[in-house]
Amino acid sequence: MDRANQNKKKCLCIIACFILFAGSFIFSNPQEKPLILQEMTWSDVREYVTTNDMVIIPMGSTEQHGPHLPLGTDYYEASEIAKMISARTGVVVAPVLLSGYSVYHSGFPGTLSLKPETMEAVLFETCEMLMMYGFRRFMFFNYHGGNNIVGSNVIHKINHTTEASAVNIGIGATFLNETEEVAPFDYHAGIGETSIMLYLKPELVRMSRVKKPKITLTDKMKEIRKLAEKNPGFDAVLNTLLGVPVETKKGGASHEISNNGIWTFGDPKTATKEMGKKIVTQWVEAAVKFILTWKETKK
Ligand SMILES: [Zn+2]
Repeated sequence: MDRANQNKKKCLCIIACFILFAGSFIFSNPQEKPLILQEMTWSDVREYVTTNDMVIIPMGSTEQHGPHLPLGTDYYEASEIAKMISARTGVVVAPVLLSGYSVYHSGFPGTLSLKPETMEAVLFETCEMLMMYGFRRFMFFNYHGGNNIVGSNVIHKINHTTEASAVNIGIGATFLNETEEVAPFDYHAGIGETSIMLYLKPELVRMSRVKKPKITLTDKMKEIRKLAEKNPGFDAVLNTLLGVPVETKKGGASHEISNNGIWTFGDPKTATKEMGKKIVTQWVEAAVKFILTWKETKK
């Protein structure tokens, strides 16, 4: 290759690099990074509330998630998915609690638990503070079944005693289509949740330690499961027995049901990052659609 040709090539290369560099600024989405309250300054918040009064509050837990997933699994799921929703909508995420109501998992060390009334007080006082600055639309992104009652109570208190509005955009949200069951009884640290963590926090998943659990259900639970097969919705009765403290003598505490803390009849070794991505994406898309619709209404 001669020198003139070499120079021409160099020149074209520089122009191409410049176009790519400039393009990355012109076409970058200004909302592709999440807005996290703890990372903002007070003046950022003052500016934010002049155009937006929405906030997402994640709710998770610090509790056992089998021998292979970290204790903070539910916290990471709630906060990471909430951040993805924030990046797509520009709504602030305010994580305020690391723990949830998890006392029925305390047969496994490391599990932390707060009483529902303690959580309700912390969450409501937090929302009252946010209301002082102009926040009026609260969205709770809960990713731990044990917190359901707490979320409902705080949402009710906000809606019935303040000017603000509060809704649930986490598990049980009205806009979510039932996601298909990946395996029967895949409720905790199983195929679904392991897949989600392989997608969100792969560095914290110890796949070499994962083992199919030995599940022990009481005769009463087995009977209700059979009836629920013919009567969809009847499994609501099963929920009164499962995931309850050992003192209730229902045989529904985590260590009474599972020998290693995993709840599934499937094999968690079959979890994949791709499945995790699919579950998370469905969630994010549905929540983004909901928020963008709510944004259309007057502030
Ligand atoms: Zn979990």
